[in-house]
This record gives sequence, C-alpha cells and structure tokens, in this order.
Amino acid sequence: MPFENNIPFELYVFFLIWIGLIGSIVGSFLNVLAYRIPRGMNIAFPASHCPKCGAKIRPWHNVPVFGWIILRGKCKDCHEPISPMYPIIEALTGFFWVLASMFVFPMANNNFTLWALYSIGAGIALSVVWGAILVWMNRIKD
Ligand SMILES: [Zn+2]
Repeated sequence: MPFENNIPFELYVFFLIWIGLIGSIVGSFLNVLAYRIPRGMNIAFPASHCPKCGAKIRPWHNVPVFGWIILRGKCKDCHEPISPMYPIIEALTGFFWVLASMFVFPMANNNFTLWALYSIGAGIALSVVWGAILVWMNRIKD
C-alpha cells in the first residue's frame, strides 16, 4: 500500500498542489526565457510588459495561468491578444513538476524531507531540459 508510511495522504496531496504551483511559477520564468533569449534581450530587465503597447504587467495579472484568465487573454491597456502559449506552458510546467514529484515518491523511503528534496531536484532538472526545448523552439510569438 503506497500510503502505509509516515507521509499522510493529506500531506501527499497538499505537497503535490504546492509543487504544481512552484512548477507553474517556473513555467512563467521559462516563458520569459523562451521569449527573450532568441531576441537577444536581457532576461531580468525590463519587467514584464505588453510586447505591443509596452504597458507594464500588473503583479496580479502576472500570476501563472490565472493572470491570463483574468485578462481573458487580452492586454489590459491596448486590448491586443496575449498568446495562449503563456498559460499553456505555465500549466504544463506545473503538471510536469507534479508528475516528477509522484515519480520520485517511491525513492524517498517514506521520508517527507527527502521526498521534498528529490521533487525539487527532479523539477529543476526537467525544467532545464524543458526550458532549453522552449528556447530552441521559440514558440512564443508576439
Ligand atoms: Zn498592450
């Protein structure tokens, strides 16, 4: 039985939700890399802005997946569409982190700390590969 151990089922589920949110934040960062690296832009400055009108993205519109939904895929200022690739890549990355965490669970020997460390390690490792693929594909278009 997978849950006869010292990681209660509630903690298992809670941690998977948490790791999924972390993954979606990483996905948001990968979107920035995938857009900026092929264009030779600085990856940190300027802060997130609309590629069409240059308006700054408000922090609550920069929340992975939900920001795009709140905006209904359009810039708040110029109403130009924002690529659905942004929330799709954020959600996919979150999902990959959850899968990676479930994958390493049996290796953690019922030790929560070990599982958390393995999960974060696996998430980072796959994000490096996934991020490189995204940059290479350069799928994010204006
Ligand atoms: Zn705009």
